[in-house]
Order: sequence, then C-alpha cells, then structure tokens
Amino acid sequence: MAVTSDFLVIGSGIAGLSFALKVAGSGTVNVVTKKERSDTNTNLAQGGIAAVLGDDDSLDLHVSDTLASGDGLCHEDVVRLVVEEGPPRIRELIELGVQFTAEENDAGKLQLGREGGHSRRRIIHAQDMTGRAVEKALLARAAESPNIVFYENHLAIDLITQTKLLRRGAVTTVSSERCWGAYVLDKATGKVKTFLARVVLLCTGGSGKVYLYTNNPDVATGDGVAAGYRAGALVTNMEFVQFHPTCLFHPKVKNFLISEAVRGEGARLIDARGRAFMAEYHPLKDLAFRDVVARAIDAEMKKTGDDCVFLDITHRDPDFVRNRFPNIHAACLELGIDITREPIPVVPAAHYQCGGLATDQNGRTNLRYLYAVGEVAFTGLHGANRLASNSLLEAVVYAHRAAMAAKEDLVRRMKKNWPEVPDWDPLGAEDSDEAIVVAHNWDEIRRLMWNYVGIVRSTSRLKKARRRIQMISEEIEEYYWNYTITSDLVELRNICAVAGIIIDSALARKESRGLHYTLDFQEKDERLAHDTVVSLASRPAAA
Ligand SMILES: Cc1cc2nc3c(=O)[nH]c(=O)nc-3n(C[C@H](O)[C@H](O)[C@H](O)COP(=O)(O)OP(=O)(O)OC[C@H]3O[C@@H](n4cnc5c(N)ncnc54)[C@H](O)[C@@H]3O)c2cc1C
Repeated sequence: MAVTSDFLVIGSGIAGLSFALKVAGSGTVNVVTKKERSDTNTNLAQGGIAAVLGDDDSLDLHVSDTLASGDGLCHEDVVRLVVEEGPPRIRELIELGVQFTAEENDAGKLQLGREGGHSRRRIIHAQDMTGRAVEKALLARAAESPNIVFYENHLAIDLITQTKLLRRGAVTTVSSERCWGAYVLDKATGKVKTFLARVVLLCTGGSGKVYLYTNNPDVATGDGVAAGYRAGALVTNMEFVQFHPTCLFHPKVKNFLISEAVRGEGARLIDARGRAFMAEYHPLKDLAFRDVVARAIDAEMKKTGDDCVFLDITHRDPDFVRNRFPNIHAACLELGIDITREPIPVVPAAHYQCGGLATDQNGRTNLRYLYAVGEVAFTGLHGANRLASNSLLEAVVYAHRAAMAAKEDLVRRMKKNWPEVPDWDPLGAEDSDEAIVVAHNWDEIRRLMWNYVGIVRSTSRLKKARRRIQMISEEIEEYYWNYTITSDLVELRNICAVAGIIIDSALARKESRGLHYTLDFQEKDERLAHDTVVSLASRPAAA
C-alpha cells in the first residue's frame, strides 16, 4: 500500500524545509529523511549566508565576486537572479524566527562578516553556528504545520519513473519521462515502502563522504545525484569538488570545520615553523579563493612532509575571539587547544559539491515533476568554484522559486489518477553474512578518491581510479541484487556511482580551472569554458 501526498520532499536541510513550508499551504507534504530530521549539512554550517545588506555593498559587487570565484563557468543570469533575490529571502528567514547576530551597538542592524573572495562584509551569521539557527527555526515552523509529516530514518533508494513503471507493466506507454515518487527503506523495520506524490523534490545535499577526509556529516553520500542519474536526470560539473582549506586536524575528531570567517577576521596560515606562506601563492594571501588556499596547503604539506599546517588568530583580542567564535573556541578547548593562545592544526578536506542534477531557474530537472534544490542541484550559480556562503543563499532562493513552480505543477497533475505501482520486489534476496565486502568497498572507494581524484589530479591517476571504480561497481551491483537491502549497501552503491561520475567528468575536462587542477593540463583553456554534462544515456557503462 503506497504512502501518498501532494509533495514528496526527500531531505530535511535548508532546501527541503524551506520548500516544505512554502508548499504546505497548498497541499500535503511528506518529508522523508534518512536519519533524524536535523542530521544535515545545514545544521553544521558555521560562517553564514551571503547577501547584499551593507551600506558600502551593491548587487553588482556580489555578482562580480561570484563570477570571479566561478572562474568563467558561472551562468551570469543565474548569479544575478540569486544575488537579487537574496535579501528578501533573508528577511523571510528572520520572520520565520532565525536569530542572526546583530551589531553590538545597534540591535536593529545585522552584523556582517567577511569571508574569502568577498570584496565587502556581507555574511549574515548567527555567531559561528548559522546553520544550527536556521535548521532549528525551520524545523520549529514545520512542526506547527498540520500538512507536513516527517518520516525519520527513512532512506530513499530510487525514484519511481514512468519508464520503470513501463518495465514492470504498470503503464503501457512513456510519452515523456516523469517522476511519481520513490522507493524508501524504513531503516527501523528493514522494509521498503512506496511513496507516491504529484511533485517530488530531491534535496539530499552533497557527497562529501565519497572522500576519505571530509567535514560533511555521514548523511552526505550523494544519494540524490546517484538516484537522479539512474532515473535519467542530467548531471553537470561534478568534477568541481570544493575542498575546504581549514578542517581541524586532530586524531579524536573526524569532521570539524574551522570556518573561513576565522580568516575573515584576520587569522593567518602558518607552517610548523611559524612561517606565513600564503603571500607566496596569491596577492589576496589568506583571503584568496578556496581552491587557491587548499592547493597552497596541499603543496606546503607535500614540500615539508608535515601532517598539517596551522591557522593562527592569537594576535586578536581573546574576548573578541571567544565572542565571535564561541562554537569553534569551545570545541578546540575541549581537545586542549586554546585558540586565543595557540595556532589551530588544520588540513583541507572535501566540503562541497559544486555540480549536481541540472535544473532550470525554477529548480526543475529534465524529468517532469522532479525538482532538485540545494547542494544536490546544479543551477549554474557556482561555476568552477563556489564563493563562500553562497550555498545556503542558493538553497533558500531556489526553494522559493521551486515552491512557486511546484504549486502550479500540482494543479496540473491533480486530476491524474495514481498509477498502480508494484511493491518493491526483493527478487529472492537473502541476508548477507559478508558485511565485510560492504565495509571494505566503502573504505577503498573513499581512499581511492582522496589519493587519485583529490586536490591535484593527473590523467593517469584518474584512469587508474576509473578502472578500479568500474570493478568495484560490478561487485556492488552483484551484491545489491543478491542480498537484502541495507542502508550501508544503498549508500555504498551511491558513493560508487558518484565517484564514477566525478572521475568521468574530471577526465572530460582537459584543462585546469577553478577546483579542477590537473598536472597534465595546467592552464585554463578558454575554448573549454563550458559545462560538463553526463547522463545515463551518454555514459551507460560506468556507475
Ligand atoms: C561544516 C560545514 C560548514 C558549512 N558552512 C557553510 C556556510 O557557512 N555557508 C554556506 O552557504 N554553506 C555552508 N556549508 C554548505 C551548506 O551547509 C550546504 O551546502 C547546505 O546546508 C546544503 O543544504 P541542503 O538542504 O541542500 O542539504 P543538507 O542540509 O545536507 O540536507 C540533506 C538532507 O537530505 C537527507 N538525505 C540524504 N540522502 C537521503 C536519502 N537517500 N533519503 C532520505 N533523506 C536523505 C539528509 O539526511 C538531510 O536531511 C557548510 C557545509 C559544511 C559541511
């Protein structure tokens, strides 16, 4: 028996919650989320949201900073649209109850932070816990809506499309591909449920877990990109993986970010001997774009053989540091590092997926009634390198636009009968007694991606990685069809699919641009200033 609703939202971060709140007045909304509802990248965001609110700032300056960061690949119309629609969306967040930090001497004025690549102070923040404040307020509003129902610990496995229904004999023709819902694993019972909806939104976030070192939480396994890809959606620019330059390096902590805002407030990168090195790499020094800083750290670590570099903010007033960065200060202090007195050990780690499922300016993918918003989506905003704090901005702007379009789609589709969708068929799968295969492949893919498809790439390493991923992919498919579905297995299949897409996209880009840097083509080639698009149709063998 299918679970039906007008809107199915897969993911409960800023994108999914913003969308759900906006469509809940027009229909029923099921929010499926694979852990607890606040287990999201959003909840970990520290720095803030970029928007033009300062007296010395302008839309044109934010546009030009974003274009400069994107290194020739941003879609300028999208950049302008997002920048222009940012301030009204920020005001809505405030109305929804998000408590951003105000100026100390003027409670009516938001305090604006500075981050790398921004020519002005324009980062709206809630101390250094912006994402937590946003998530908390949006969840509180969603809990008040009688039309929004949450399904926690429910993991979407695959989308239900017209073609899949045709294959299973549930429909007789496919005039154009459209989405009807998703098969979802209820992690508590191990059963697969059918969720049907008139409009489906994928807002599953990013894919940091594809890499061995990441500051993303465990949920970031690229499920949306993988499921969309398998259903025939177009996937764009996945070679552009952003490595955040400064994640805490500590044996006891696996994914703690030291926000870029710390450099924005004057922190300098130094090596173990105390040498500040960024001036050797870029005129903007420590506030250069993230790709430049991450590559500089990578080069320094390779040169010196050190395990990490250090971020030093000890020259600022200790009270200022404690008040501006209470979360980072407390977390480091718990590990014995007093950031007001000693430098913080840091390394780069996978942070943000600039590519994703291609959408139009209303968040629509090429599959009808399937939308994608947030980190899972490719809108054209980020180009070859996302500007700091532009991703929460993109998510709220596109959640709004998608909600408006989805409400119209709902009216159009209202009269259609639900299709007869066959239940998930386990095809005689049995419980596996070889969980070690899953654990081994998880580790191998992530290590391989870190070593061969990381900050600095080469064609031969990419080709080696592709061969290995193809073999692992075959093993996983065999395992997938023979054994009972578990969340680990679904996520493994997805990180493998996404790894394959990243590698193929990286191999296709025969130049260095933004976040994609390869030793074999070290210069930017203006003839290649276009997006990399892959789809199941163009790339049937891999993933
Ligand atoms: C440490 C850190 C700091 C950051 N700081 C900033 C910042 O200061 N400013 C900024 O703009 N950006 C920042 N980012 C990036 C930003 O937080 C994310 O890009 C953004 O929050 C993504 O929002 P989202 O709604 O798309 O996805 P998320 O917030 O990641 O939510 C994804 C949701 O999808 C669910 N999900 C995933 N797969 C499935 C599945 N198969 N089935 C069901 N549910 C699923 C997850 O459980 C989760 O609920 C930061 C990221 C990190 C990791």
